[in-house]
Amino acid sequence: MDATAPKVSMLDLPAQLAPLREELMASIRRVVESGRFIMGPEIDRLEREMASRAGAAAAVAVSSGTDALLVSLMALDIGPRSEVITTPFTFFATAGTVRRSGAKPVFVDIEPDTFNIDASRIESAVTPKTKAVMPVHLYGQCADMDTICALAKGKGLRVIEDSCQAVCTEYAPGRQAGTIGDLGTLSFYPTKNLPGIGDAGMVLVGRDSALADRVKRLRIHGGERRYFHREVGGNFRMDELQAAALNVFLPRLEGWAKARRDNAERYRKLFGESGLVKEKGVVLPAAKRPHTYHQFVIRAPRRDELREFMTSRGVATDVYYPLPLHMQECFRNLGYKEGDFPEAERAAKEVLALPIHPLLDPAQQETVVRAVGEFYRTS
Ligand SMILES: *Cc1c(COP(=O)(O)O)cnc(C)c1O
Repeated sequence: MDATAPKVSMLDLPAQLAPLREELMASIRRVVESGRFIMGPEIDRLEREMASRAGAAAAVAVSSGTDALLVSLMALDIGPRSEVITTPFTFFATAGTVRRSGAKPVFVDIEPDTFNIDASRIESAVTPKTKAVMPVHLYGQCADMDTICALAKGKGLRVIEDSCQAVCTEYAPGRQAGTIGDLGTLSFYPTKNLPGIGDAGMVLVGRDSALADRVKRLRIHGGERRYFHREVGGNFRMDELQAAALNVFLPRLEGWAKARRDNAERYRKLFGESGLVKEKGVVLPAAKRPHTYHQFVIRAPRRDELREFMTSRGVATDVYYPLPLHMQECFRNLGYKEGDFPEAERAAKEVLALPIHPLLDPAQQETVVRAVGEFYRTS
């Protein structure tokens, strides 16, 4: 065993994928031997399977979660002079793609318990320029889609769900995250709940098949057929090789998701017994709406010191995200300042993601909770 490797890591992808390695290699070999690398049978199969699992009108395989967001904005004609309401507490791509479309990201503060956009504050951010709301199902927990969709309907706004962290999360019976609004995006970045073996993503189209056709067209330079371009799109295709890998992994997703949920329950039990919640101010993630635990994120007093201590005890942790988007240098020209979104700013200082990956075992979880306890009791 490598003495420098952490005892508990955030993810163990080689071990997670090991049982599938033979099947994966056979699949890759098949694609290589076929010589069909772009828009072939693996893409077809993945799109059909994902659409059916999600109960979506269509699933469009694309090059990444980021490109899924960008092409979604393009498909809804969101561009210069438009505004898109979203959360300042998310991965950069959510607002980065809004900016790249030419539109302006307008931030609304988050709910302190779920870290998701506070739906009750959206209405006051709507202006005549608002075209869409882009909620994020952060860490795998659904945003308040009932309130968001009701508001969007009333105001004539589009809804793009950034579901990159919430693949196959059931918001309500038969209604998956990503299919509730107009469009939803998935990421298969290798650390996500359904990992690719490189970059890959998907656009879910809830109901509107004309919109699905447009996403598909924009994915390949806006053409209905080759070399005839109805509009300007891009190259947002997913490779056959990625689709082949995802087709091998997809049947395992449910099992992996269950392992994550079980791990979350075990953390709740262990933390409950430890007294850290009552006595030391550790806050466990709310289970307010459906959650598939892409991350298990606690709030921790003296977070940075705790993180260092955990590292010294061989426990990996991470911070998603240390700087809210309204305070990023590249968004200075949006005119926001520190203090504008106090909950997002407080979360950025307090959140700590603990290992929750599917192969984490109970002994490792005990190690994690014990290390947190040791920190608060001895320092
Ligand atoms: C991962 C992620 C993305 C981007 O996905 P990529 O596949 O890395 O481009 C977008 N939004 C959120 C919330 C994400 O977690």
